[in-house]
Amino acid sequence: KITLSGVNKSFGANFPVIRGVDLTIDDGEFCVFLGPSGCGKSTLLRMVAGLETAYTGQIQIGDRVVDKVEPADREVAMVFQNYALYPHMTVYDNMAFGLRQAKTAKDEIERRVKEAARILQIEPLLDRMPKALSGGQRQRVAIGRAIVRQPKVFLFDEPLSNLDAALRVHMRSEIATLHRNFPAASMIYVTHDQTEAMALADKIVLLHAGKDMLKHGSIAQVGKPLDLYHRPRNLFVAGFLGSPT
Ligand code: ATP
Ligand code: MG
Repeated sequence: KITLSGVNKSFGANFPVIRGVDLTIDDGEFCVFLGPSGCGKSTLLRMVAGLETAYTGQIQIGDRVVDKVEPADREVAMVFQNYALYPHMTVYDNMAFGLRQAKTAKDEIERRVKEAARILQIEPLLDRMPKALSGGQRQRVAIGRAIVRQPKVFLFDEPLSNLDAALRVHMRSEIATLHRNFPAASMIYVTHDQTEAMALADKIVLLHAGKDMLKHGSIAQVGKPLDLYHRPRNLFVAGFLGSPT
C-alpha cells in the first residue's frame, strides 16, 4: 500500500507544483495520474519513486518512508516515456543489467529474463541490439527491465506516448495483461490521455491545472473512471473528461 499524506512541493520559493495531496493506493490497485500538461503528474510520480527529496508531508510504501529507504531497497521500478535502453547492450543484457548490479545469481537472472520475455512476447529478440528494434519492441524491453526486478510498485510515466496510435492501443492491453500477471503489485500510470486512463484505471487521480493558480497541482477528484465521468465534482473535471452535461 502506498500512502501520501499532506504532500506539498515547490520548485523555488513561489512556485508550488504539488498541493495538499492525500492519497492511498492499495496493493494490486491500478492507479492513473491524469491531468493536463504541467499539472505535476511526473513530479508526483518521481516523488513516489523517491527521486525527489525536497517536499513537505510524507510518502510511504508499506510502513517505510520512501526517501528514507536506500534506492536499491525501494522495491519500485519505473518505466519512462523515452525507454532509455543501453545502446551497446543486447536486449538480454539490458534486462539483466539491474539484477547483475544487485548480484543476483546467474541462473536466477536467466530465469527471470526469460519469464519476462515470455510475458512480453519478445523471446526471439533477446540477442538483438536496441537499434534493431521497433519503437514498440523497445518499449517492451523497457517494461521487461522493470518486470525482472519483481517490484512491489510499478511506476509508468507516459510509456506509450512515443508510439503510433494503433500500437498504443495494442500496448495498452499489454499493460493490462502485465497488471494481471502481477496481481499483488501496485501500479501508478501517468498519462494525459483520458481514453487510456478510462481503459486501464481502477482509480483515477485527476490533478488540477489551469488559470486558477491556487489549485494548480492539487487533486481535482479521485475515484473510479465512470464515477469521475458521470459525477464530476466540478467544471474542471467535467471539462477535462468531456462529461455529458
Ligand atoms: P506533462 O504532461 O507535460 O509531462 P506533468 O503533469 O508531468 O506535465 P511536471 O513535469 O510534473 O508536469 O511539472 C509540473 C510543473 O513543475 C510544471 O509547471 C513544470 O514546469 C514545473 N517543473 C518541473 N520540473 C521542474 C524543475 N526541475 N524546476 C522548476 N520547475 C519544474
Ligand atoms: Mg510529465
